Amino acid sequence: MINVFNRLEKINVMLVDPHVHVYSPCAKWTFKQLIREADIKELDVIIITDHDRISKVPIEIHGNVKIFVGVEISSKDGHVLAYGVSEEIPPLSTQEVMEKIHEQGGIAIAAHPFRNFEREGLQSSPCSIKEGIFDVHFDGIETMNGLNTARENELARKNAEILNLSKLGGSDAHQEGQLGNALTITKNEINVLDDFIAAVRKKLVKPRQLSGVKFT
Ligand SMILES: [Zn+2]
Ligand SMILES: [Zn+2]
Repeated sequence: MINVFNRLEKINVMLVDPHVHVYSPCAKWTFKQLIREADIKELDVIIITDHDRISKVPIEIHGNVKIFVGVEISSKDGHVLAYGVSEEIPPLSTQEVMEKIHEQGGIAIAAHPFRNFEREGLQSSPCSIKEGIFDVHFDGIETMNGLNTARENELARKNAEILNLSKLGGSDAHQEGQLGNALTITKNEINVLDDFIAAVRKKLVKPRQLSGVKFT
């Protein structure tokens, strides 16, 4: 699949995929494949967010795409995306995880907070925060996740609006063909990870679905 954004729109925004797995055991592709797909889809920024580990990734510009590293933390109540942390955080409660992210100067995003909300019991460990998003002071909510259903994403969007939080999109890509299926777009220039963090804090980001991608 080829991008996607018409040229006029692409000129004005940065296309960021802030939720990508590559070295997690559940990921089924290589860093090289990721870079190739990012190039084909003309993405500007990729943030690698492997599960519970801050992966050692060559942080440099690969062609036109910039690569940064975050982490997706398996809190006891669900997954939390962290950007701007340098030390790994154990699977504590969501509140404790968020505090540890903030202590390190990072931001905490509720990842796919309503995934499986209609399919309880399918997973042995929690991955979705659900009502917990009201108890924890997140910096943003992933309201468009590339592996979610449309209804799961819609619930996240509605609740992010109630909470007046930044709304992000991320593909949650684990293999070829998934990268960029959901994105975060911003008009802010992003040269370093802190630029992305600042854009999220200022709510200068929006979730965006690539045309042709359908959430099931
Ligand atoms: Zn997750
Ligand atoms: Zn993920």
